[in-house]
Amino acid sequence: VINADRVWQRLMRLAEIGALPGGGVDRQALSAGEIDAWRLVIGWALEAGMSAASDLAGNLFLTLPGRDRSLPPVMAGSHLDTQPTGGKFDGAFGVMAALEAAVSMAERGLVPARDLVVVAWMNEEGSRFAPGMMGSEWFAGVRDLAAIRATKDAAGIGVGDALDWLHAAFPDLAHHAAGFPVAAYLEPHIEQGPVMEQQAQVIGVVTGIQGKTTWEITITGREGHAGTLAMADRADALMAFARMAVAWQAEIGLADAAVKFTIGRLVVAPNAPSVVPNRVTLRIDLRHPDNAVLNRLGARLETIAHELAAPCGVAITRLVDAPSNEFDDALRARITAAAARHNLSSMPMLSAAGHDARHLAPLCPSAMIFIPCRGGISHAEDEWAEPAHVAAGALVVAEVLAALVTPDA
Ligand SMILES: [Zn+2]
Repeated sequence: VINADRVWQRLMRLAEIGALPGGGVDRQALSAGEIDAWRLVIGWALEAGMSAASDLAGNLFLTLPGRDRSLPPVMAGSHLDTQPTGGKFDGAFGVMAALEAAVSMAERGLVPARDLVVVAWMNEEGSRFAPGMMGSEWFAGVRDLAAIRATKDAAGIGVGDALDWLHAAFPDLAHHAAGFPVAAYLEPHIEQGPVMEQQAQVIGVVTGIQGKTTWEITITGREGHAGTLAMADRADALMAFARMAVAWQAEIGLADAAVKFTIGRLVVAPNAPSVVPNRVTLRIDLRHPDNAVLNRLGARLETIAHELAAPCGVAITRLVDAPSNEFDDALRARITAAAARHNLSSMPMLSAAGHDARHLAPLCPSAMIFIPCRGGISHAEDEWAEPAHVAAGALVVAEVLAALVTPDA
């Protein structure tokens, strides 16, 4: 039904754009590399008789037109941007598997009952412009365009300018001015964890995405001379942070076996060897599959910060507050059945990482299909998926999508 060799060759061709010496890929959102990737992928779509369009948030849509263009389309895909030392498969596999489903349908002369749209969401990774998932959040109406456009990268370049640059590179593309109704959404992806490989499973039927809360916390003390200022008179922001970190790790980080607690960023000011620190700014990422536990731990985390700050002050901002979601039962059943028809082992599993599908799930029946990756390694240059697993995943994706766009086929 699909051309597995073509999927693999196209993944490898795509990985040449932004290729790193260690076998990885660096293809940042809205960069010259992403523009090149768009050119390549759009070329493949047009050659199959599909059409291409974008939108104000820089999402890419490749459409295989259906018989009734007025029906909401079925959509599938992922993203083309990578981490700075990312791999060949994260994001790209989802876009290539979805594209193969459409291209192979077109090749067989099948006209779906409704449009099939292959999507590449803008800035899923959030490495150049933070936070990520900008394209899908705008599409879902949960983040507004002005806030997205105002976000700057480390060099001071705004998303707004980068978006205008991207659009200028594709003057012929039509632009959607807002999100549009979608009948169903499917996102293929590598697992990015070790579970499927350990259990020797080929297809992961994702039940949902683990909930996540992130914070920016600023602890404010008073600067002072390391030699002259008495300990009793200090408001040392770094020591306040140290008290909190110990309590957080004990009460939150070790709360149960499922919790994931990370302090990923710490900025100390003035960060001078002989000056009492007057400000510490940090980012916390807390995840848990159970929403009730996530909420309870999140509240406790904030209480600990307030309790242990004195004599410093503390300001707490929640940046992301995303509960666990549950993907559509019927779609999950279709994926399981399609895998079984081809004698591919499959297992239900929670996604520990976040994906754009999180933002589509409230809009339409949504689901994700995972394939294993070697050693569970991702966001790294040696990220690897076996050709047989890529082929199996693409086959299941094609079969599920074909049934969704033409239910009576
Ligand atoms: Zn991804």
